[in-house]
Amino acid sequence: MRFVEAFLGTSLLAAGTVLALALGVGAQTRPGPAPEGPLELAANLARLRDAALTSDYAWRQVAYLTQNIGPRLAGSPQAEAAVNYVAGELRRLGLEVTLQKVMVPHWVRGEETAALTDYPSMAPKTTQKIVLTALGGSVATPSDGLTAEVVVVNNFDELQALGRDRVAGKIVLFNAKFDQRLADNGFAGQAYGQAVVYRGIGASAAARLGAVAALNRSAGGADYRLPHTGALRYADDAPKIPAAAVASEDADLIAHLTSEGKVRMHLVLTPQTLPDAVSYNVIGDLKGSEHPEQIVIVSGHLDSWDLGTGAIDDGAGVVVAMQAAQLLRQLNLRPKRTLRVIAWMNEENGSRGGLAYAADHKSEIAKHFAAIETDLGAGHPLGFNAQGKPEILTLLQPLALILQSQGAGVTRLVEETGSDIGPLGAAGVPTFAPIQDSRTYFNYHHTAADTLDKVNPKELQENCAVVAALAYTLASMPQSLPR
Ligand SMILES: [Zn+2]
Repeated sequence: MRFVEAFLGTSLLAAGTVLALALGVGAQTRPGPAPEGPLELAANLARLRDAALTSDYAWRQVAYLTQNIGPRLAGSPQAEAAVNYVAGELRRLGLEVTLQKVMVPHWVRGEETAALTDYPSMAPKTTQKIVLTALGGSVATPSDGLTAEVVVVNNFDELQALGRDRVAGKIVLFNAKFDQRLADNGFAGQAYGQAVVYRGIGASAAARLGAVAALNRSAGGADYRLPHTGALRYADDAPKIPAAAVASEDADLIAHLTSEGKVRMHLVLTPQTLPDAVSYNVIGDLKGSEHPEQIVIVSGHLDSWDLGTGAIDDGAGVVVAMQAAQLLRQLNLRPKRTLRVIAWMNEENGSRGGLAYAADHKSEIAKHFAAIETDLGAGHPLGFNAQGKPEILTLLQPLALILQSQGAGVTRLVEETGSDIGPLGAAGVPTFAPIQDSRTYFNYHHTAADTLDKVNPKELQENCAVVAALAYTLASMPQSLPR
């Protein structure tokens, strides 16, 4: 295909020819009504891209979600306000809106403080403050806290090597470093995956050996002494112990002092787990012209952590999905299939929204043509990831060529795209996500610094262009995708 690339910037005819080739359709042989031939599709994709790159719609939406509504942890009043707001906005765009009821965990952060109260060469009448934040779902310490010696391990093997004798009655700190060099080289997700396992299952692993609390070095980039929260998963076979993430600087401090001698910590965490609350996935349909029963999902998750205002995680993803529908209305484009915008609830601490959707639509999986989710921030998009059969990338190559003009022509086959659409992917629905520059994403992820200023308006527009063009292509293609 390389030889045609040069034509694409200037010639829609060439793009149309490429589309016709890749889509395997000759306009003259296609049976039945043809409201949009390959040439017209290419022209419409270019219009979508250009409109996205000049629109401020998504920016205004993410500003409202973050600045006016604020943090949107599942079960919170702000999450409820966000559901109502997005539903209203989608209705204003002319979409058919339904709220899918989902029962969500309702966890509320409390006090969270810690100090080292005994350590080598400690000056009299002093302590060392430790910056930390409770993990979502954590149980509380006694209200006046607990005090215990801290032991530091770098991985699960080191924990097992210590054994019950040296772990029981102590606070365990998992000190696995986030690999910033991986992130800097485009493997931020992998760096996160390597570190986050200790946040996820560290507490139960420590509790099995009798630990009284668990800490993990924050799973994310370091520098400004920010602790990164996130969900933990208590195992059924271990006592539930309080768990928190410490800022990486504080993990270094504790590790240094424990290498010199005994370190004791006073820890206060007072979160509460309330009964499950009622919440909703917000679903808005723009009905297709030829196959309204076939669905292309474009989505992000509406809930966020409570420390920041959920701008890059994942207000940006929600508004990118909203903008796809807004652009179709603005340009009066109506694809063959139904475009379904979904703002998922409870991705962060339960994934109940994504699971409920897949369960409730189990008998209609075949009608789900494809699903897109944006949930890795709002950084410059480099193209898109696809999960499914490799032939999908070949079929979408013409779109990739059009996206090259904005530096977003990369296509990759991956194992997973987004967590809310994961259950659909597992059931055979092809799923997609933009590939985003995520070098700095994990510096702010799940911290108090996930705020609107971290969204670059121009890069947000670029993401809108990629996702709108991808959604429109999927909703318009003449043939089905292999699955
Ligand atoms: Zn997210």
